[in-house]
Amino acid sequence: MPATALTPCPFFIDGAWSQPNLPGTPVFNPSSGEVIAECPVGGSEEVNAAVAAAQAAFPAWSETPPVDRARVFFRFRQLVEDNFDLLCQTITREHGKTHSEARGEVFRGLENIEYACGIPTLLFGDSLKNIARGVDCETIHMPLGVCAGITPFNFPAMVPLWMIPNALACGNTFVLKPSEKVPLSAVLLGQLLEQAGLPKGVFNIVHGGREVVDALLTHPLVKAVSFVGSTPIAKYIHDTAVLHGKRVQANGGAKNYIVVMPDADVNKTVENLATAAFGCAGERCMAGSTAITVGAAADRILPDLVQAAAAIKVGPTDRAAQPDMGPVITAQHRDRVLELLASGEQEGAKILADGRRVKVAEAPNGFYLGATVVDGIENHMTLAREEVFGPVLNVMRMDDLDAAIELANRSAYGNGAAIFTQNGRAAREFSLRVKAGMVGVNVGVPATMAMFPFTGWDDSFYGDLHIQGKESIQFYTRQKVISSRWFGGEVADVWKL
Ligand code: NAD
Repeated sequence: MPATALTPCPFFIDGAWSQPNLPGTPVFNPSSGEVIAECPVGGSEEVNAAVAAAQAAFPAWSETPPVDRARVFFRFRQLVEDNFDLLCQTITREHGKTHSEARGEVFRGLENIEYACGIPTLLFGDSLKNIARGVDCETIHMPLGVCAGITPFNFPAMVPLWMIPNALACGNTFVLKPSEKVPLSAVLLGQLLEQAGLPKGVFNIVHGGREVVDALLTHPLVKAVSFVGSTPIAKYIHDTAVLHGKRVQANGGAKNYIVVMPDADVNKTVENLATAAFGCAGERCMAGSTAITVGAAADRILPDLVQAAAAIKVGPTDRAAQPDMGPVITAQHRDRVLELLASGEQEGAKILADGRRVKVAEAPNGFYLGATVVDGIENHMTLAREEVFGPVLNVMRMDDLDAAIELANRSAYGNGAAIFTQNGRAAREFSLRVKAGMVGVNVGVPATMAMFPFTGWDDSFYGDLHIQGKESIQFYTRQKVISSRWFGGEVADVWKL
């Protein structure tokens, strides 16, 4: 048990912070293995209170002029910047990613807040005068009401910020259920939103697991649900929310393929592959987890790639000296990755860079894995099909681009895909034919920025309107078309009224 006091992890309901004496689940510092907080497990009682508060806050907030709502987000943006280091430390402490990865995450979050600051123009509608004689027509975008967000462990601040700013800026109110593994960054974001002047009840946090999720999915006053997490849960969230009449966007897991053509620049490709596969210890839905080498590409890149993987220094991220890569989220998750690697080996794959036995002397109880490169992967292997979500790069070899695309397209997922080549024709062919919603050409992690939608396909996304960008504004609003006609005599008569 921890030597230091646990960090508070309160609910935020109707503008009040409270940590009731509920049973909790441990929040670990993955670098040390210590328990740093206990995340309370809420239930329908807390959800009902949060939704009631959000519903009560909705009329005034939705009628607040968009310019005034935007001002809250300008202030929130400044507060996130003022508390940048604290937020990064909180992310690193509960998630384990390196300081520079945490900084990258917060920058991405800031971009989402900045996007929402443009809400007065994002909400512009269309209009046409005189669609019939004397009749004018306009579309307006109206908020939905209470929206809910359910978020995963791997981006404790960025994923909540994919949802909260746009949802609230559109005039909705919100209940967030953060991942119980990393609830502390969400609490800090809630404190900053409160300081930014958000009226009470507009934003609420209820911690917990399935019971909280189910209470949100079935609550009649929740109008829309945004989810990010693994595929089975995304599907469950989508189907349940739809069944209960809600609008839903549910991002799932992924398996992203990076095709390396024989003409690819070796140094740049190796550098990008290593970052794509091992950045954030591979715990990214856009991780480049499988390299498909075409023809001679394998022999050109593999020696350097294996060397690059072996050189990645793994260690604790909760101190000043930073390693290249931090731990994975829990001991249980580390063990699952180890099991997947063992299954790959049993099925005939060959481990070229072996991170399984990495030792971190200064933090012996942390949840570490080293960067691992596995060659000889065949599509029937469990390691080839299942999302690993760890610092593991599978290598599959194909003879030509057609075969590489065909292989990538057999995946049940469809989040990201990338190609490394110097040939524009190959890049174009790949971009158009690969079955993935986000494509990189010499970009290993083609994760989209705030102004573009995060366009997963197939088992990586359930719903219609994606997170981020204009689609997000569409998701958080519904349209009304108003046709108007004014009766009366001559215009000159108006002045006689
Ligand atoms: P997860 O699915 O285990 O959990 C996500 C959320 O769902 C959490 O808040 C959790 O409390 C809740 N949850 C878990 N089990 C539940 C259940 N049975 N019923 C109801 N709710 C439940 O995901 P995770 O392990 O936190 O995150 C990693 C996953 O998220 C990976 O699969 C990754 O690819 C995916 N992810 C996807 C994207 C994307 O945009 N496609 C982005 C980030 C992460």
